[in-house]
Amino acid sequence: MLNIVLFGPPGAGKGTQSEKLIDKYKLIHLSTGDIFRANIKGATELGTLAKSYMDKGQLVPDEVTIKMLESEVNKHPDANGFIFDGFPRTKAQAEALDNLLKSKSTSITMMLALEVEEGELKKRLLLRGANSGRADDQNPEVIQNRINVYNNETFPVKDYFTAQNKYKGIHGIGEIDEIFNMLCNEIDAVK
Ligand code: ADP
Repeated sequence: MLNIVLFGPPGAGKGTQSEKLIDKYKLIHLSTGDIFRANIKGATELGTLAKSYMDKGQLVPDEVTIKMLESEVNKHPDANGFIFDGFPRTKAQAEALDNLLKSKSTSITMMLALEVEEGELKKRLLLRGANSGRADDQNPEVIQNRINVYNNETFPVKDYFTAQNKYKGIHGIGEIDEIFNMLCNEIDAVK
């Protein structure tokens, strides 16, 4: 199996690149943000809970997020592999993911990180807020909070995968196809 963690701060381009990667490598795309938004739209209990955190730019608690992710993985027993987009965002989530994959006799192949500096992220997120109507992209304070949460809680997940020799960083500014090609080169080198 090819199991990729697509990593990077809010606005780095994970969603855009995931779409292209799943198409090329025939992987299942699991975006925790998308799954939470679908639950909000469907007015589920999970959606109501997630919304109360997302609106403030905070992380949904690990216990809830991990349970949800596990059940999504379990829906695809015959997958070629997965792209995890927006997960893991904490060290506890990274450990849970490792354990889950281990129980299925597989593992994370690599963490691909899109590296983008903060000023560019804020510009992109505000633009996305204006175009897509995503509430958490429209408020500069919420955006700043998400970037702070990323720096404090999520960035350390890089060390977790670096210690396993699985971290590959890509500069995430440039043409979408150029960045895509760099990601493919990294994947093809380990496949
Ligand atoms: P972005 O990367 O632009 O912040 P996402 O769609 O990945 O967008 O996430 C939106 C929000 O969903 C996050 O700010 C957070 O509240 C919640 N969320 C997504 N993934 C996770 C996760 N793995 N753990 C906790 N909360 C999450």
